[in-house]
Amino acid sequence: MALMPPEPDQPRPGDQSWLASANDAQTDFPLANLLYGVFRRAGRQHIGVAIGDQILDLEACAESGMLKTLPHDLLMACKADWLNPLMALGVSAWSKLRNHFTSLLSSQADPDTRDHLATCLVPMHDAQMQLPAQIGDYTDFYASIHHARRVGALFRPDNPLLPNYKHIPIAYHGRSSSIVTSGSEIHRPSGQTKSVSGNPGFGPSRSLDYELEVGFFIGPGNPLGAPIPIAEAEQHIFGLCLVNDWSARDMQTWEYQPLGPFLAKSFATTISCWIVPLAALAPYRAPVPEREPGDPEPLAYLRLPSMQCGAIDLILEANLQSRLMRTTGVPEMQLSVTNLRQLYWTPAQMLAHHTSNGCNLRPGDLLASGTVSGPEDGSEGCLLEKRHNPESICLPSGELRTFLEDGDRVTLRAWCQKPGLPRIGFGECTGTIVPAANHSRP
Ligand code: CA
Repeated sequence: MALMPPEPDQPRPGDQSWLASANDAQTDFPLANLLYGVFRRAGRQHIGVAIGDQILDLEACAESGMLKTLPHDLLMACKADWLNPLMALGVSAWSKLRNHFTSLLSSQADPDTRDHLATCLVPMHDAQMQLPAQIGDYTDFYASIHHARRVGALFRPDNPLLPNYKHIPIAYHGRSSSIVTSGSEIHRPSGQTKSVSGNPGFGPSRSLDYELEVGFFIGPGNPLGAPIPIAEAEQHIFGLCLVNDWSARDMQTWEYQPLGPFLAKSFATTISCWIVPLAALAPYRAPVPEREPGDPEPLAYLRLPSMQCGAIDLILEANLQSRLMRTTGVPEMQLSVTNLRQLYWTPAQMLAHHTSNGCNLRPGDLLASGTVSGPEDGSEGCLLEKRHNPESICLPSGELRTFLEDGDRVTLRAWCQKPGLPRIGFGECTGTIVPAANHSRP
């Protein structure tokens, strides 16, 4: 059973860094987090670790001898252009590296170490963030029962949840080529939709939506034909990021039967630039929510070894700022706040299910939770779910919204907090809608 990292590699509560910005109570990136990302600067692409308002450049660390005590394969993975080689090395290598950076960046580090390391820091505002990995495959689940129920109720008020939902983690294969980093502009997609008259037409989507999701990057993969048992599933998760699975609802409604989403989703997916290691989330693990009375017991291959820490207590929020709000200095408006711990299926169950037919996962593959929603008003993870309320959303600028308009900026954020522990954040996942490309243009 491996629901928790095997080695105790957490900084102690209250551990401080010698880097002052890492000790700021409001930072997403304290010593307890140590997220991984990939950045470009001066034409070169390196792996980095986020700390305070800086990035620790791992290539520079390697060149200055700060990683010389690490095994050769780990050293080489730190010098790679992408995180895939590090992801492939597995939990014990990740733990070794995390312990190494924790001691280098801790206030206990000796003055020589600090001086050396200070030359390997890059201010975040000087770096251009890239995708963290070469993402071979992207799979999107549907693991929030509150999302499934609310969306189902729009189409089937008497029977919102389909009969398979409580037996099988539902997912579809997404498109990895159109995954973009936070900050990228999102072109409004054009596509085929059904008009009021019932005839299909082609044009820019009129029902563009966001989806507030969490992604799981795969570490070591599995050979084709060899399922990953659920008890080992978490050893195959490198870390988590935020995902906005933009969706064109009018295109989706027309195209999705019987094979599921296609062009309504594949035009763009935004992810946050930093990956929070699963080890950093260990203090924020939570019991799996109790099943409703009468719910079926999961089949054996989906049964968790322990219900105690299968979930993750992660607060998530979605915010909107229109172009008018931006140009008149009006801050973004919170659209929803929810929590990852309320998922019906855990990350381990999703991963075990994905490989249960022998499908192989590879280092750097991305699995996403599906829209994360809670049961209450205000916890809807997308605009479609807010349709149960007949009134449009009124922005502080006086503008009304049912779906996203050109110029709208959606920003997702996530963080864990618990008394006695530092707050750890994910950084933001943001995207701005720009007008559809002229589809008649050659
Ligand atoms: Ca989705």
